[in-house]
Amino acid sequence: MRFLLINPPSPVHLGSPLLGQQYLVAALRARGCEILDLSAEKFSEAAFEKTRAGMALGAEAIVQAALTDGAWAGYADILIRSPAPTALGGWSYEAVDTKLAQETRGGTMLQLCAYSEMIGTIQGRAPEQFHVVTPGEPFVEQAYRVDEYVAYYRLVRGRLEGAVREGTETTYPAPVEHCNICRWQYACAQRRRRDDHLSLVAGIRRSQRDELVRHDVSTLTALAELPVPLPFKPDRGSREAMTRVREQARIQLLGRTTGAPQHEMLPPEAGLGLHVLLVDLLDWKSRTVKRHG
Ligand code: SF4
Repeated sequence: MRFLLINPPSPVHLGSPLLGQQYLVAALRARGCEILDLSAEKFSEAAFEKTRAGMALGAEAIVQAALTDGAWAGYADILIRSPAPTALGGWSYEAVDTKLAQETRGGTMLQLCAYSEMIGTIQGRAPEQFHVVTPGEPFVEQAYRVDEYVAYYRLVRGRLEGAVREGTETTYPAPVEHCNICRWQYACAQRRRRDDHLSLVAGIRRSQRDELVRHDVSTLTALAELPVPLPFKPDRGSREAMTRVREQARIQLLGRTTGAPQHEMLPPEAGLGLHVLLVDLLDWKSRTVKRHG
């Protein structure tokens, strides 16, 4: 069932520019929807209680719903009321997440599965669907069936809980995209600097780091000191690409030891980068000279 954005008003009519959640809330208000807005609540037992109370009373939509099942907790952007009966009464709730990106990522699906399980615990029955609202004109709602994703979610959740239970000695804070917004980013960056981790080499790829570790090269310094030609042929990627990252590591190490940033000019490569610009420039110059000569 798709019920969120039936005949949605344009974001412009609701007051542009609106981000996903603002747009959705404004769209629901424009439809006369009764909204319980918990955005101002701190993440606390009181917020969980207000969410549960709002669900028990049958609020049509709950914004920034604080959810927990005892072990896990999170904020769902919006809970929307659905007509399927549950222990709450003749209604139930489904989770809605609003995203700024067009593509819905795996992490979003896992997050929504987690919210759906917590909603299920509160209302005594798993929600049938969850929803992602992505930008568009108007914003676009995508509905997903919980049953199709929850088994994978439980597998991932079980593995994560197992890793937390058994300790994390085998994990390492290698950089990933999420680091940019992660609260641990300074601590993890510090650890990588302390370890002289290969990820400090500018432009190095994950597959190259993995390969180097397999050859007992696990620090920037070790890579910088690797003999050239390289003593091994990479399983993936070319020897030239690996030599380039080795050269990059060498320059960075030199910068460290001299205390001054270092750079080296690479010879121009035919058909690439500045070489193309140079050829175009010479061509343009010769045509200009001919025209005016
Ligand atoms: S900063 Fe966060 S995402 Fe990045 S490695 Fe550390 S814990 Fe993981």
